[in-house]
Amino acid sequence: MTELQEIARQIASCTGCSLSETRNRAVSGEGPEQVDLMFIGEAPGHYEDMQGRPFVGAAGQFLDRLLESIGLSREQVFIANTLKCRPPNNRDPNPGEIAACSHYLDRQIELLQPKVIVTLGRHSLGRFLPGETISKAHGRPRRKGDYIIYPMYHPAAALHQPSLRQAMEDDFKGLPAVIAQRTVSEPPEPAVRQLTMF
Ligand code: URA
Repeated sequence: MTELQEIARQIASCTGCSLSETRNRAVSGEGPEQVDLMFIGEAPGHYEDMQGRPFVGAAGQFLDRLLESIGLSREQVFIANTLKCRPPNNRDPNPGEIAACSHYLDRQIELLQPKVIVTLGRHSLGRFLPGETISKAHGRPRRKGDYIIYPMYHPAAALHQPSLRQAMEDDFKGLPAVIAQRTVSEPPEPAVRQLTMF
């Protein structure tokens, strides 16, 4: 068993916060263990909680189409969430839940070492760039430690609001360049300078 699989096993039986009492299935995340790109959403919703898989509802189908629009499929990226269990009635995650769950996501990121982390929505953004607003931060790649963070709107919000949808489609179009810049600019120093100029 790989360490990522071991983490998924721990998540499946986690009782680290009270969401474990109301969830059906924990959702550890999924994707290959070698990836350039990691997407981090907010928390499982109804369908994710039933199936134990991330982004399988309407927002997930939209995410799949956005990936396709840049020639990628979900099998080529890792998809995870800030919280691994569904908050009742899809309410916002609370700080205690985020704190209790964060070590799982930290370790997943450490093991995957993605070139680019795409945050989906304001909760995921807040975990990496606290205090930033999504309307200003989306579509602008930022250096954070070893990673490039590329904030985007949440697909569930973009699905229903035409202006956010357009912004999300545009941000996706910029993604290949963000990955390529990171890929071709090893060692990372020049990439940092180029990316902070965006
Ligand atoms: N919304 C999220 O943030 N994550 C999911 O897995 C599904 C919907």
